[in-house]
Amino acid sequence: MLIQKAFKFRLEPTDIQALRLRQLCGCARFVWNYGLAETKRLLDSGNKIPSYFDLSKLLTAWKKQEDMAFLAEGYTDNLQQKLKDLHTAWKRCFDKKLAANAPVFKKKSDGRDSIRFVNFNKYCELRARRVKMPSGLGWIKFRQSREIAGNVKNATITQKGEHWFISFQVEFEVASPKHPSTSMVGLDAGISKLATLSDGTVFTPVNSLKASQEKLAKLQRKLSRKVKFSSNWKKQKRKIQKLHTQIADTRRDYLQKVTTTISKNHAMIVIEDLKVSNLSKSAAGTTDKPGRNVAAKSGLNKAILDQGWYELRRQLEYKQSWRGGQVLAINPAYTSQKCACCGHTSKENRKSQSRFVCLACGYKENADINGARNILAAGHAVLACEVNGASMPSATGTR
Ligand SMILES: [Zn+2]
Repeated sequence: MLIQKAFKFRLEPTDIQALRLRQLCGCARFVWNYGLAETKRLLDSGNKIPSYFDLSKLLTAWKKQEDMAFLAEGYTDNLQQKLKDLHTAWKRCFDKKLAANAPVFKKKSDGRDSIRFVNFNKYCELRARRVKMPSGLGWIKFRQSREIAGNVKNATITQKGEHWFISFQVEFEVASPKHPSTSMVGLDAGISKLATLSDGTVFTPVNSLKASQEKLAKLQRKLSRKVKFSSNWKKQKRKIQKLHTQIADTRRDYLQKVTTTISKNHAMIVIEDLKVSNLSKSAAGTTDKPGRNVAAKSGLNKAILDQGWYELRRQLEYKQSWRGGQVLAINPAYTSQKCACCGHTSKENRKSQSRFVCLACGYKENADINGARNILAAGHAVLACEVNGASMPSATGTR
């Protein structure tokens, strides 16, 4: 089995190297934005999104245009990879299942830039704590905190705020693993609780996030009182950017820990096959899942919820594949209204956001745990159908 993994480190370019990196990032950002404008124009005039091959032909044409001569300062592989990413972003946007957001224009002031170097073995070289990069960069130091295992296929350099990072994407072959556990578990995802398992385990979101959100709101209020584009305004803007990065990092670290724990303990994880867009719709409360995820009403929370759910599923899937476990996605219908004890299904069973009381048999349980148990039961049903050779119910998954 071929395993793909990334190793990320803090990069320590010299001032000259950082200058060159910013230049490379600038060219790549331009190509992304120009390509995005071009593809939007094509879509507006009723055309389809061009193939990656056609997009890269456009790049060749742009380079010949006099007003875009500066693109010669960029590195062709970086620019092509940006168009590849753009193509993927559009594909994910038009994919009915993913329904990802449309790609957006990137601004320098976002403080986030990235460039990817492919064919690592051909153009780059790795030595203890140094990496040799092409396009005038030379040997760059990085803080190597652990061994890089496997064959490096490509490297991505990112700028986040004032810091640079390098991520090596590696591949290595391992014998197909057998998951150490035989347990099967249902998982209910939400926003007030990040994940609830059918065995009663609850993962709540990190506490520090609420404090950070409040701090963020305070900083933003301060920003609104400053004169736009003044030096104080810019200073405040940088503070906000830094906090944004901190919040995202905390959230990502925590999610990694949670998915590792779940993946280590359970060979089969059953989840709801939620369409990302459905999940945020249910934030306001629908007839199917009344008042669920009420905390997710604001646009910001909605975006976090969408990304969080997609990311939770993605991490569980790849971690299970490393360990030889599986993720099974089941049809989410009625998982929140059905009694996990007797099967009685009614809106009225759901007393509140957190309480479930069955009107038929009197079974009382935390609503999320009840949901997770229904998800587990639906997983068992899907597996039983497969064993009996019956047709698959409307469930899909990575199995
Ligand atoms: Zn019941």
